[in-house]
Amino acid sequence: MPEGDSVYQLSKRLQWMAGREVTRTSIRVPRYATVNFTGMTCKRVWPYGKHLFMEFAADGHEPQILHTHLKMEGTWSMHRAGERWRKPGHAARVMLRLDDDPRPDIELVGFWLGLVRVFPAREYEVEMGYLGPDLLAEDFDVDEAISRIEAEPDREIGRALLDQRKLAGIGNEYRAEINFLAGTHPRELVRDVDVEKHVRLARRLMWANKDEPVRVTTGVKRAGETSYVFGRNNKPCRRCGTLITKGFLGGEGDLERVIWWCPRCQPEP
Ligand SMILES: [Zn+2]
Repeated sequence: MPEGDSVYQLSKRLQWMAGREVTRTSIRVPRYATVNFTGMTCKRVWPYGKHLFMEFAADGHEPQILHTHLKMEGTWSMHRAGERWRKPGHAARVMLRLDDDPRPDIELVGFWLGLVRVFPAREYEVEMGYLGPDLLAEDFDVDEAISRIEAEPDREIGRALLDQRKLAGIGNEYRAEINFLAGTHPRELVRDVDVEKHVRLARRLMWANKDEPVRVTTGVKRAGETSYVFGRNNKPCRRCGTLITKGFLGGEGDLERVIWWCPRCQPEP
């Protein structure tokens, strides 16, 4: 599941785009079907939480931002122009071809992107200002994240952690692991928990994983031992041996998302 660290790594892999000219554009989203970056240069690529941004500019054009979000199933792939990349049943939402002279151009294809938007670069703050502090920013603002979470004391902490308006980057996997490490049940209310502990754990875990190929929250990289509770329904707790259990608690847009917890280490409120 793409969480902040996955998008951070994706952005790192796409840094080659910066400074290259777009030679072909295809955005297969009706609203943006006429958007054309061809002839513009990619100025930069950057992540913010689980969102990815690319900025394009050219003389005489207003700089534009392509904003995408992988949501559940999105992926980006790269190919040399002329290579086959269409796969049956795979919906390409964005295709950008970039100059790689003297070699063939590079085609970057975004499949199954859950969100594709384009807006003028000058509107970035207005468009994205609602997001809470980015957990992977060099200057992550711990206090701001804490105050945004504490502003709604009657929400469940598990729900607050997934709310990107409070802090940006956490998905379902980190939520489960943060709650376990904090010793809290995801349904405990914000007013009853140590919010700072949760925020600092979130930052520490995600920062430690930002350059790692496999996400690890236990400190053990062996397959099957990388998480405490995430995906471990009916398996023994690594701390006390009690069987991990699972349930559901809302996530973004109040979509119900799975939660896992140890009934002994994280008693239900
Ligand atoms: Zn336990």
